[in-house]
Amino acid sequence: MQTSESPVPETATFEVTPAVLHVAERAFERGLCPECFGRLVGRYGHGLTNPERAQRLAVSLGRPLPLLTHPCSLCGGAFDRWDVWLGRVRTATEGWEYHRFNCGSRWDPERLAHEETLWTEFGTTGGESARSAFNRELGKRVEKLAGADGVTSQPDLVLLADLPTGRLEVTVLPLYVRGRYLKEDRTLPQTRWPCRRCQGRGCDFCGGTGKTYASSVEELVAAPFLSASGGEGSRFHGMGREDINARMLGTGRPFVLEVLRPRRRTLDLPALEAEVNRTAAGRVAVHELAWCDGAEVVRIKEATPTKSYRVVVRGSTTGAKVNEALSFVAGRPIAQRTPTRVAHRRADRVRARRILAARLVESSEDRFTIELRAESGTYIKEWVEGDGGRTDPNLSQLVGAPLTVEALDVLEIHDRAG
Ligand SMILES: [Zn+2]
Ligand SMILES: [Zn+2]
Repeated sequence: MQTSESPVPETATFEVTPAVLHVAERAFERGLCPECFGRLVGRYGHGLTNPERAQRLAVSLGRPLPLLTHPCSLCGGAFDRWDVWLGRVRTATEGWEYHRFNCGSRWDPERLAHEETLWTEFGTTGGESARSAFNRELGKRVEKLAGADGVTSQPDLVLLADLPTGRLEVTVLPLYVRGRYLKEDRTLPQTRWPCRRCQGRGCDFCGGTGKTYASSVEELVAAPFLSASGGEGSRFHGMGREDINARMLGTGRPFVLEVLRPRRRTLDLPALEAEVNRTAAGRVAVHELAWCDGAEVVRIKEATPTKSYRVVVRGSTTGAKVNEALSFVAGRPIAQRTPTRVAHRRADRVRARRILAARLVESSEDRFTIELRAESGTYIKEWVEGDGGRTDPNLSQLVGAPLTVEALDVLEIHDRAG
């Protein structure tokens, strides 16, 4: 079988050495299709398809390639049904925009084991596996069909041909957008928070919304992306998170939004940024949006930037005492046991953290505004109030009077130089 679509390039090389000829002699007329016959020496030479290799071997043996009366004993005819597979690809990818894809295939393990047995029997050390050849050949054809690139990393779609069942499975990879968000609204959690009673299905307790809070930074940022892309859902990854009642100010907090199963991928990012900022005005703002890949999620999750805060504290003490306590605290280690309020979702342990700098910026009778910079992972409210002694030392203890946090803002996330 000579394939019609690809003339053999002039740079193609395939030397039929005595070793190659020896393999060919043993494998000839053993019920292999030209693809599988040529593939026995598929890693010798380059620029030829496997059927073209088979043709060269036949010429060297001085005999025509045999016509098969049964399906190939190795691949079962997998390489003879490209039209069928391309039809399945067309159907399964209908309505999904993609520019980069990856092909895989699932084979009967017995066939793959049989292939290795044949390699041993015919004495070849340059065989290519049926699976890798199938994936490559299907990929070449899908490239032409869809005008898309076959890639090994960051595909938009993964196509998996299941040979035993003849099904084509499509996995749609997410879109990833990174950026920074600011939050003005003191009632917004960072991510969608499923109702505790119904786990998101909707019940009387949550008014059928399935949520504990009406909205979130995630939902406000994701909404324009979901409608523009036709995506089916989102995931939101922040570089840490602020308390629901804390504002996020300064240049904002880095995040990655994942848009799950998007139907459209060619999106106008500046327009979407403007749309988020218009629809979420007064609550959330985003900027510096850019496309990224999944590795950015890991980078964001692993970052441990220091952070600056403004805390408004109330208590029966004086500015002088607060000042004295703050001068004691800077740079010294504090031991923080997992706060009571998050103990239900975090392991109970003691962390060593430091307040790097702290100063009193305003004080009236019993209200004090403090600005401070702390290591990543420091619980600020607990450091001020003490959390029943679980943070040690704490500011209440240092001034000798119980203090409560009235308001907390994150002023800056110091994740970049300067
Ligand atoms: Zn075959
Ligand atoms: Zn509910």
